[in-house]
Amino acid sequence: MNATPTASEAQALIARIDWASSPLGAASTWPQSLRTAVDIVIHSPMPMLLLWGPQLTQIYNDGFALLAGSKHPHAFGQPTHLIWPELKDFTDPIYSAVLQGQVRTYSEQRFTLQREGRESDFWLDLTYSPIRDESAAVAGILVTAIETNERRRIALELEQRSAASLKAQRETEERLQLALAATDAVGTWDWDISEDRFIADAHFAQLHGIDPAMANQLPISEYLHGVHPEDRALIARSIKHCITHGSEYAEEYRLLQSDGQMRWVFARGRCYKDHHGRPMRFLGAALDLTERKHTEQALRQSQTELQLIINAMPILISYVDREERFRLNNAAYLDWYGLTPQELYGRTILEVLGEEAYALRAPYITEALSGRPCCFSISTPHRDGSIRQALMNYLPRHGPDGAVNGFYIFVIDETERKKTEEALRNLNETLEERVAARTRQLAEANERLQNEMFERERAEDALRHAQKMEAVGQLTGGIAHDFNNMLTGIIGSLDLMQRYIADGRLNEIGRFTEAAVSSANRAAALTHRLLAFSRRQSLNRKPLDPNELIHSLEDLFSRTKGDNIALKLQLAENIWRVSTDVSQLENALLNLVINARDAMPDGGELQIETVNVYLDGSDITTLEPVKAGDYVMIAVSDNGTGMTPSVLAKAFDPFFTTKPIGQGTGLGLSMIYGFAQQSGGHVSLFSLPGRGTSVRLYLPRLHSTEPDNVLAPVVGEAPAAIAGETVMLVEDDAAVRMLVLDLLKELGYRTHEAEDAKGALPVLESDLRVDLLVTDVGLPGMNGRQLAEIARQHRPELKVLFMTGYAQIAAERQGFLEEGMDMVAKPFSIDLLANKIRTMIGQPN
Ligand code: ADP
Ligand code: MG
Repeated sequence: MNATPTASEAQALIARIDWASSPLGAASTWPQSLRTAVDIVIHSPMPMLLLWGPQLTQIYNDGFALLAGSKHPHAFGQPTHLIWPELKDFTDPIYSAVLQGQVRTYSEQRFTLQREGRESDFWLDLTYSPIRDESAAVAGILVTAIETNERRRIALELEQRSAASLKAQRETEERLQLALAATDAVGTWDWDISEDRFIADAHFAQLHGIDPAMANQLPISEYLHGVHPEDRALIARSIKHCITHGSEYAEEYRLLQSDGQMRWVFARGRCYKDHHGRPMRFLGAALDLTERKHTEQALRQSQTELQLIINAMPILISYVDREERFRLNNAAYLDWYGLTPQELYGRTILEVLGEEAYALRAPYITEALSGRPCCFSISTPHRDGSIRQALMNYLPRHGPDGAVNGFYIFVIDETERKKTEEALRNLNETLEERVAARTRQLAEANERLQNEMFERERAEDALRHAQKMEAVGQLTGGIAHDFNNMLTGIIGSLDLMQRYIADGRLNEIGRFTEAAVSSANRAAALTHRLLAFSRRQSLNRKPLDPNELIHSLEDLFSRTKGDNIALKLQLAENIWRVSTDVSQLENALLNLVINARDAMPDGGELQIETVNVYLDGSDITTLEPVKAGDYVMIAVSDNGTGMTPSVLAKAFDPFFTTKPIGQGTGLGLSMIYGFAQQSGGHVSLFSLPGRGTSVRLYLPRLHSTEPDNVLAPVVGEAPAAIAGETVMLVEDDAAVRMLVLDLLKELGYRTHEAEDAKGALPVLESDLRVDLLVTDVGLPGMNGRQLAEIARQHRPELKVLFMTGYAQIAAERQGFLEEGMDMVAKPFSIDLLANKIRTMIGQPN
C-alpha cells in the first residue's frame, strides 16, 4: 500500500506494521470490505475506530489516536480487549449486539483517560455500527466517537448560570411578592397550559377562593369559580381570545368573596408559545381595584350631588377649559340658550354664543385664562327675545401644578334688580312732587267729602222735612174741610144765640152754647195735634195709655185714610201702659196709616189693633235680638197690594221707596224702626203680595205705678177771688183780652189791662197792688217773658202766669219758667184758667 502525499500517522502505522503476524493477516490479503472500511476511517475527520475480524483488531485514525491518549500507538493493530480491559463490562454487551447487526448509540458517555501523564475525564457521544463483508456477514464494528467535553462544559456552565439565575428569579419573585403585598396588588399567576396547572401566589389564590396550599396544582377552572358569575363568561372568553390570537390580556372583573363581599380586580397577562406556535404558558398579574372603585363611586356620587346643587341655583354656572370649551353647565343654561348641559359639553363659548356676544367677552376670557378673576356687567339676549342685564363673574381654576386650566363662569340675571333700582331712583326723584300732589289730592278729597257730608245732611234734612210735609200735606185737605165744619158749628151757634138773645128767648140758647163749645173743643183738639205733629223734638218719654192715644188720633186717621177705606179699631181691654215719646208715636202711627192708605188705592180695610203680648225672643224675626218680656203690640194692617219679598227686604232701608218722586221719601219705615229701637221695642213686617200688609210695633210695658204727669182736668165751680186781689192782664188779641178780663171780673178780681209790655210797665213799676201778672208770651215789641223779667226787678215776688199758643214754648216750659211762674196753652177752658189763677194767688210765695 502506497503512502499518500498527505500521509497521516495512521497511514504510516498501517504501512509499518507487520500485518502478517496479526489476526488480520498480511495486508495484501485483506478483503475489499476491510480495505474500504480502513479507507473511510483513515480519512474521516471525526475520531473513528474500526474493529475487524474475530479478535476485533483495532485500526483507527488520527482523531481517535488523540482519544486513546497513552494507549497510542501500541493500541494500533491490537485486539481491542487487550487494550481496553477496563471497559470490558461496558463494551462486551455492545459488541455482541452490534455483531448481530444492531446499532448502538450513546451520548455523553464519561471516560477517564491517562493523557499526557495524568488522568482526565472526558465525555463522548458514541455510535457502534456493524460493517458487513462481501458475504454480508458482520465482519467488523465501526465506532465513531465525538468528544462532547466542550459541549458538556458549556452545558455545565449553563447549568450553573441557570442556578444563579434561578436564585435571582426567586429573589425577584420574593421582591415582587413583597412589592405586591405593599400595594393593593392581588398577585401573579403562571398557567401551564398544556398541563392545565395554574400556579398563583397566595394572595391571588386566596382572593379567588383557593386554599394557598393548593395554589400550585389546580386547573384554571377552579380559579374561575371565584369570579363573579356575571363576569365569568367574559373572562373565559377573553382568556381564550388571548391564547388563540396571542394578544395581550387586560380585564376588569369582580370577585365574589366567601363572606359575600365583592372586590374589583384588574388583571393583565400574556400568553407564551413554543417555537411551533403552541401556547405554553399564560402569565400575568392582577391589581385590586376595590378601593379605587369605591373612591370612583364616591366621586361620581359627589359629582352627581354637585350637579344637582348647581342645577338648583337660579344663576348660570359653568366651567370652561383652556380651549374655552364648556366642561360643566348647570340647568339654567337650558333656559337661556335652549341647550342641555350634555349638548353644551365640549362646545366652545364662541360656538354657543356667536361672534358678537363672544367679542364682548373676549378680553375678560383672556383675563381669566391668565389667572385673574374678573367681574363685569353685560347686556345679553335671552332666547325668549328679551335683553337681560347679566352680572358675569369669571373665576380662574388652577391645576395642581399651579397653571390655569380653565375658569368658572357665574352669571346672575340682574334685570329685575336693575329695573327696581331704576324705579326706585325715579321714585325718589319724583317723591316730593308726588307727595305734594297727593297732599293736594287729599285736601281736595277732604273738601269734597265735607261738601258731600254737608250736602247729605242738607238732603237728609230736606227729606225729613219733605216726609213731614207729606204727612202734613195729607192732613191739610181734610183738616181745612173739618175746620170749616167746626167753625160753621161755632159761628152758626153764636149767630143763632145772638138772634135768640135779641128776641129775648134767653132760656132757649143753652143748646146753641153747647153745640158751639163742642165744635170749638174739637177744633182746639185738632190744632193741638197739628202743632204737636209739626214739632221737632227729641225722644220725650212719658207714660201713656196706647188705647187712649189711638182714640185721640181716631179723627186724624179718619181724615187721612180717605172715604173708600174703612177704619177698624180693635183695642184690647186693660192694655198695659208704655213709656214713650207721644208725638213720635203719633207720627209713626200716622205714617203707617198713610202707607196703608197708599197700598189700597181702590179702597179696603184699615185695622189698628192693640194687644198685650209676652215676647221670649222666638216669636218674631227682627234684625236685632229681642229682649224677653212684656210688650204692648200696636198693629196697623191693611188688605192692600202687599209687598214682594224683594221690596219687603228693603222696606226699612232709609230712602227706599217704590212711590213716584214727590210722593214717597222712603223714610217712613226707617224712622219707625229707629223710633222702636229708641223706645226699647221692635217692629216687624208681614206682607203678602196681593193680600196685604201688617206692621207690628212692640213697645215695652211700663211697670211703674207713677201717676201721669198730666194736669187733672179741673172740674166743678171755678173758685172766686178774695176781696182786693188784683190781676194785671197783658194780651194783644182784643178778643182774648176781653174774654179773660170778663172772666176775672166775673170771679171778683180787680184788674188792670194792657195790650203790650209798654202799656203794662207803668202799672207794674208803680206801687199799685198786683197779686198776679197774666200775660201772653207772643207780644208785639217786648215779649211776655221779658216783661216778667223787668216786672220782677221791681216786684221780685211777682207771680206770673203765661198764656201761649206756641206748642214749642209749652213743651219747653221747664227751661222757660222760674219760681212762681206757670203757663197755660191756648186754647184753654175758662175753668182751667180760673183754677190756675186761684191756685197761683192762693200759694204763699
Ligand atoms: P215711602 O212711604 O215714602 O215710600 P216708607 O219707608 O214708608 O217710605 O215705605 C217704604 C216702602 O215700603 C214703600 O215705598 C212701599 O213700597 C213699601 N210699603 C210700606 N208700607 C206698605 C204697605 N202697607 N203696603 C205695601 N207696601 C208698603
Ligand atoms: Mg211711608
